[in-house]
Amino acid sequence: MVSIIDTIKAKIDVVEEIGLVVALQKSGRSFKGLCPFHNERTPSFHVFAESQTWHCFGCNEGGDVFTFVQKQQGLEFRDTLAYLAEKAGVSIEDNGSRNPEEEREASAIRERLRKLNEDALLWFHQMLLRSKDAAEARAYIQSRGISSDSIIAFGLGYAPIHGNALSSFLLGRGYAEHELVRGGLARAREGAGNTGGAGSVEGIGETSGGVFDYFRQRIIFPIRDTRGRVIGFGGRALGDGQPKYLNSPQTVLFEKNSVLYALDMAKDAIKLAKQVIIVEGYVDAIIAHQYGTRQTVACIGSAITEKHIQQLKKLTKRVTLALDPDAAGATATEHGIQEALKTFDRSVVPVPLVADGHRPGTRKEGKRNVPRGMIRLEEQVDAEINVLQLPPGQDPDEVIRQDFSLWSYAVAHPVTLVDYYFVAKTANLNLRQPAGKTEAARRLLPVIAMISDRVKRDAYIRKLAGLIAVDERSLHDELRRVLRKQPHTSVTAAFSDPGGPRSIQETTAQQHPITKEAMQDDEIEPAAPAKERSSKEGQEQRNYVLDRNWQSRLQWEDYLIGLLLQNPGLGQHVCGIINDGDFAGTDTRELYRILNSVYQRDSSPLHQSFEQYVPSALLETIARARKSVESKSPLSGTGLIKDAKQCASRLKRMRLLQSNTELRYLMSEANEAGDVESMQQFQQQLLAIHRQLRTIDSAMHLHG
Ligand SMILES: [Zn+2]
Repeated sequence: MVSIIDTIKAKIDVVEEIGLVVALQKSGRSFKGLCPFHNERTPSFHVFAESQTWHCFGCNEGGDVFTFVQKQQGLEFRDTLAYLAEKAGVSIEDNGSRNPEEEREASAIRERLRKLNEDALLWFHQMLLRSKDAAEARAYIQSRGISSDSIIAFGLGYAPIHGNALSSFLLGRGYAEHELVRGGLARAREGAGNTGGAGSVEGIGETSGGVFDYFRQRIIFPIRDTRGRVIGFGGRALGDGQPKYLNSPQTVLFEKNSVLYALDMAKDAIKLAKQVIIVEGYVDAIIAHQYGTRQTVACIGSAITEKHIQQLKKLTKRVTLALDPDAAGATATEHGIQEALKTFDRSVVPVPLVADGHRPGTRKEGKRNVPRGMIRLEEQVDAEINVLQLPPGQDPDEVIRQDFSLWSYAVAHPVTLVDYYFVAKTANLNLRQPAGKTEAARRLLPVIAMISDRVKRDAYIRKLAGLIAVDERSLHDELRRVLRKQPHTSVTAAFSDPGGPRSIQETTAQQHPITKEAMQDDEIEPAAPAKERSSKEGQEQRNYVLDRNWQSRLQWEDYLIGLLLQNPGLGQHVCGIINDGDFAGTDTRELYRILNSVYQRDSSPLHQSFEQYVPSALLETIARARKSVESKSPLSGTGLIKDAKQCASRLKRMRLLQSNTELRYLMSEANEAGDVESMQQFQQQLLAIHRQLRTIDSAMHLHG
């Protein structure tokens, strides 16, 4: 049986989730970025798509998507589970076991965060209107044509350059530091010490205190929910500040993947106009509203997600994408179209995501794609997705200000998705040349293949035939081949510019050749480049071994938890060997943590059963762990202690070997890139791991 935790993990991509908070950069087969848990200037924070894990080689934090969310948002496991389950669209029956007191507490926290955001908004706004420092910000806003009425209506603000001006103000109003961090308005000043001298972050004032402002020297765009309550902020850098746009981190209130900027102010107009226009930037949305196109919202972040679409469906079924027509914009538009195709249009649906082209029975494959495709098919609704055509190279706000009649014409006459593709995909091709024709067919057939309505599909085949002057029948043959053979993932992957920003679809496609286990390997050399492992049998054999390693690790974790449940006194003997971070299983890790805290609080026998202390999602694991111990012959006294220590050491060893594999992999990446500095850094860490491994090995010898 697949546990609820596994189901959630199969639906949420760790790269995507962490990417909401950390600017990740693809580096070989992993992603790297600046660690959100300690201050650093060069990235040592790595996310591994294959194993769906992350690790910071600076502060040594790591884990899976649960640990990341837990740590980054400061949540309890139970709340993390609820948060991720909601995101993954998985229902958890755990609600009942959450007592009313906890429920009240959670809603009090949300209420307090809202108040905090309101106070911050007023402060940012006052800074923009009155502060001398804000002159540059005011000039910028004026240069973009934003009126003073709009400044007030949208509550624009300014975050000054000083490191903790807002924090001091809010602390003075009685908020606690941890509330500022939890609300995404400040970052903890911790961690400077454990990076080996990363030093302080630029722009931090010298005043004491444990936090510094999250937004500095930026124009602030408050982001509200549909009810108009401030849930987060977007900040645009002034000058050369990086990144150019910085949004609030994910918080209890702020869910970046579902929020649409200005939706609260647009919703009535959307219903009235029976249309919603989605633009990319805050300023685009503000200018559109200012000039009367009030059915406009902006998407925050780089892509339109299913959640955006779900919200809009309640208001209108006519969605117009007005995204920047430059190169980046074209990619974003495509991505938006992907999503739109998937969720919206009854007549334009994706090919069902059956596991064709992939080995059946791969764990990840099965869980990741098939249900999603089915869900999408179920979700079809009548809708019309179209694209607003703007002059190349011009942002919507420019068009609106310079030629409003052109804008209103475009708003009233958007082109259909497929028509848009016909133009966009062939813009740089010479359709008179055979090579250009072939390329046009190669790019457009997958698009046409997505149309489920045969009549419509035939019409577009005719259109393509006319465009490239090729016999219709041969295109039909080719289309059949596309429909039959091409797995959905690679169809979507082909949509993106290989050099452009990575799309979610691409990652999914890339995840198949190597499974989670590739990084858990302790008997095999670090994963070789994909091309060397194209042999199918070799792959399967490899997966088998890797899978066995991963499984065996989880089994040992079950066993250790089982031992501890049976004999809580053993805790003192293993806590010096491992800690919860060494666990590979999300469930076993949390159980180990609860075991420690429960028995530390009270060493006398528990009044209640241990099960009372844990979320119901973990009960299954407890049962499994108990069974794992019961199936072995009972030990007692020193034998039992020895057994527990052995088991803990074995798990620690497996954890170290995992780090070893990751580091060796990163080293080979750094080597290829000629990055000597990183190589030296990794080399040192490898040596440290080898030292620890030797210690463990000799200890195992002693108590083995
Ligand atoms: Zn770190």
